[in-house]
Amino acid sequence: MGRDESEIKIVAVTKGQSPERILEAVECGIVRIGENRIQEALEKIPLLPHQRLEFHFVGQLQTNKVKQMLLHFHYLHSLDRIKLVEAIHAQAVKLNIESRLPVLIQVNLTGKETQGGVDEQGLVPLIERAVRYPELDVRGLMTIGPYPVDERETRRVFRKLWELKEEINTLKIPGVYLRELSMGMSEDFEIAIEEGATMIRLGRAIFGERSTLK
Ligand SMILES: *Cc1c(COP(=O)(O)O)cnc(C)c1O
Repeated sequence: MGRDESEIKIVAVTKGQSPERILEAVECGIVRIGENRIQEALEKIPLLPHQRLEFHFVGQLQTNKVKQMLLHFHYLHSLDRIKLVEAIHAQAVKLNIESRLPVLIQVNLTGKETQGGVDEQGLVPLIERAVRYPELDVRGLMTIGPYPVDERETRRVFRKLWELKEEINTLKIPGVYLRELSMGMSEDFEIAIEEGATMIRLGRAIFGERSTLK
């Protein structure tokens, strides 16, 4: 499949990386930063040229961390339950946030519960719920591929996410048009791009192995 480079956005996943390493990547042109833990992100964001960066939250989000996510992040990749939708709505009202948060619905297609994500049956009801809230702008879907990577199974999962996007768009749910697919990490991003990814989330492919900060 021929893909134009400009259709694919790179999110540099910086968990486990020091601010110095992240700065090097920013100097090389990285503009989207992905983190999967609020606490770690809050320690690093002030040390980065944050006005020029777009922060993407890619991890499992607890409802008690929603406030900090809203205050510091520009994009949420892991909306996966109605409780979280409601918590975001409540906090956005409280904080008087008027801009809409771009969100992706995380879908679990591997059956591994530890990864998070709504299952296929829950996907449409969750989207229908999320679009009722003006604080959320549902842009697309996200998934985490099988680990370890298995060419056939990985491709099946990514193709499935693309099909789900197409199916949901044909339902013409008012206010819903899915454009983005966040799929593919360091070990499977090539397959993800072939299957239609618009965002790939790269950690080790950019930074090398993660060091533990603490
Ligand atoms: C850590 C992480 C990544 C990046 O993983 P790599 O294998 O280092 O590229 C991508 N997405 C999520 C949700 C992650 O937690």
